[in-house]
Amino acid sequence: MNHLNYTSTRNSSISVTAAETIVKGISEEGGLFVPSNLGDLPKLTMDDIKALAEKPYHERAFDVLRGLLGFDDNELRSCVGKAYGFNFRTLGVARLVNLNSPCYMLELWHGPTSAFKDMALQILPGLLGVSMKKVGKTRKTLILVATSGDTGKAALEGFKDVDGIEIAVFYPENGVSDAQKMQMATQEGENVHVFAVKGNFDDCQNAVKAVFTNTEVAAKAEQSGVSFSSANSINWGRLCPQIVYYFSAYADLIGKKEIRAGDKVNICVPTGNFGNILAAYYAMEMGLPVEKLICASNTNNILTDFINTGVYDCNREFHTTVSPSMDILISSNLERLLYHLSGNNDNLVRDWFSSLRQNGKFEVDENVKSKISSLIYAGWCDERETSDTIKAVFYEHGYLMDTHTAVAYKVWRDYNKEVNGDKITKTGTKTIIASTANPYKFGEAVYSALCAESVGYRDEYRSAETENEGDAAENKPGGVARSMIMLAEKTGICVPKPLALMNQKPVRFTEVLEKDGIKDAVLKILSP
Ligand SMILES: *Cc1c(COP(=O)(O)O)cnc(C)c1O
Repeated sequence: MNHLNYTSTRNSSISVTAAETIVKGISEEGGLFVPSNLGDLPKLTMDDIKALAEKPYHERAFDVLRGLLGFDDNELRSCVGKAYGFNFRTLGVARLVNLNSPCYMLELWHGPTSAFKDMALQILPGLLGVSMKKVGKTRKTLILVATSGDTGKAALEGFKDVDGIEIAVFYPENGVSDAQKMQMATQEGENVHVFAVKGNFDDCQNAVKAVFTNTEVAAKAEQSGVSFSSANSINWGRLCPQIVYYFSAYADLIGKKEIRAGDKVNICVPTGNFGNILAAYYAMEMGLPVEKLICASNTNNILTDFINTGVYDCNREFHTTVSPSMDILISSNLERLLYHLSGNNDNLVRDWFSSLRQNGKFEVDENVKSKISSLIYAGWCDERETSDTIKAVFYEHGYLMDTHTAVAYKVWRDYNKEVNGDKITKTGTKTIIASTANPYKFGEAVYSALCAESVGYRDEYRSAETENEGDAAENKPGGVARSMIMLAEKTGICVPKPLALMNQKPVRFTEVLEKDGIKDAVLKILSP
């Protein structure tokens, strides 16, 4: 089989295999690895896609990933088999739920940590293991992860007690939900390290990126025989497994006779680092019939502005929202899209991103601007609308969404309004909405939304909280457990088992670092 070649967005003379991109994570000069030519991507025919409908998820993953990775078939079979089995709490792995046709929820959160990051991070350890063998690397690996909440937990679950791996996760102290914090603080495994950081997600991400290129750290790592890797969504091994579920959803729509093979669909994604929506773009380039990609942001709406104006401008306030996994101003994977849309122009990409570093902004040319606007519709949803959407959809359709999914749903409605005058017609183009987290992961915000009146909508939650002063603030397990119980009582929807059980586990990690303490924390791990 021909191997797909990969290059760097900032140096297109580079040519590497998928295995090399997975081991390296990021290219030396700071670019991201991408397929060298979109035209070389493996294509799935409509017959291939139809055939997926009859297959279990791990075989769907095999079919989609095969041409992307260049692994031996038995190596890849072993990876997908281990990744997509009983560790997911639903047989289909990525379940598609018809909310009110033409809108379908692609539930990507039935994995061990209840967020969509499991879809990639359950398979990444396998992909990394095979890749290391392929490039002849046997050193111990330290994986560094900056997280806005969900990646950290999913990476910890994926890599816990994996031979030859050590993993350290850094999250913004006040930038994640209580449930997310508890999930990470109670993480099991002998090779895991978890730190809160005084700063926001971008601070964590920048500090971790700086550690990767720090000479003192490099010397120490060399001495200890350790090399670094990343589990962030800049790693191609994180991105490519996400392409699978868009094909899977489309096949399910055919299987359920909701569409005919070949019909176009919209794909609507709540977006932070631009990884999940970029995977949908790659799916499209691999033969998935897509009419429009819908990019949904929260109050940190830098992508909405960029897609609508061509100007990416970080000189703006950072907001902490109820959808914290999208509280991001530097949307890393956008660089990959820009590379492709500019016609593989690494010079342009370098210019744009050096301007971003120096001035906090860049503007793309007319050519790229017009390609983006025909490909993507972008919109955003504020805090109030997020809350209103959760409540309205629950009472109208009996469907409970988390805060991130609600952002996507609201932006889909805006798109629909623009295209169809807000008539919800069953005959319109079907839309797949990426549902990215179980609502219990953001239980407090979801509960507050359901209780919202007009003003002071958090009151019901607050008064319930003060009833039980004893285990407030300091004792998070009580707080998290209580918000889950209250949400369960209100909705009758089950708490996922791992989230329910976490409240009984011992807290193992409580360390809080200053932003500039990340380097020392890494040095400490390197010298046990
Ligand atoms: C990570 C995450 C997102 C954003 O995904 P990107 O790939 O970073 O765009 C959205 N929702 C949830 C729940 C997430 O964990």
